[in-house]
Amino acid sequence: MTLRTILNDLLDLFFPRLCLLCHTPLLREEKHLCLSCFCDLPRTGYHLRTDNPARKLFAGIPALREVGAFLFFEREGKVQQLVHTFKYYGNKQLAYELGRMAALEIYGRDGFYQTTDLLIPVPLHRKKERKRGYNQSEWIAKGMASVLNKPVCRTALERVTNTPTQTHKTIYERQLNMENQFSLAEPKLLEGKHLLLVDDVITTGATCLACLDRLASVPGVRLSVFSLTIVRQY
Ligand SMILES: [Zn+2]
Repeated sequence: MTLRTILNDLLDLFFPRLCLLCHTPLLREEKHLCLSCFCDLPRTGYHLRTDNPARKLFAGIPALREVGAFLFFEREGKVQQLVHTFKYYGNKQLAYELGRMAALEIYGRDGFYQTTDLLIPVPLHRKKERKRGYNQSEWIAKGMASVLNKPVCRTALERVTNTPTQTHKTIYERQLNMENQFSLAEPKLLEGKHLLLVDDVITTGATCLACLDRLASVPGVRLSVFSLTIVRQY
């Protein structure tokens, strides 16, 4: 036992770290969630389906390869609670850990995203990122990258306009709203590469679609998508 482990155990004894969902004390190797709550999170399994409903959102994008989403996002559900924790309450380490765990399953166990060269988080507008202090999709991407062993590129794609929240808009309004939202800052960096676009929540897919549309203009790219969560698609 190292001194650090002993100190951590002592800390846990006096200030137990609790599972974010069921509030039971965490074991030493557990982070943010207990094993039972983590196992109970609703996986989509979309990447394993031949009729992958997430893939259908991006039909028509040239050079589209793999599309995956880890968990179902349900209003008032546990996954929404986790998303709010890393999006609005500053817990970027949770975004990292969920990205890492997703990659262990989708890449490590199921063999997807093997040929990825570069991970590209969906960018936030500069003002929004400054206000939040970080981009949650970047932290999800960093967690995935620690398993895929590939770099995260946060500078190649930029969000050029600051859209108000999309929550109360129709699908058509969202689509219109997203056009020309993103620009390529360093297309040379991306040429000929297999890019994995990483998002936190897919609702209609309009944001990812706008990003893919921009990325598809880079010569020789192949494109894949990963979202940590997705609203159930039918
Ligand atoms: Zn728990």
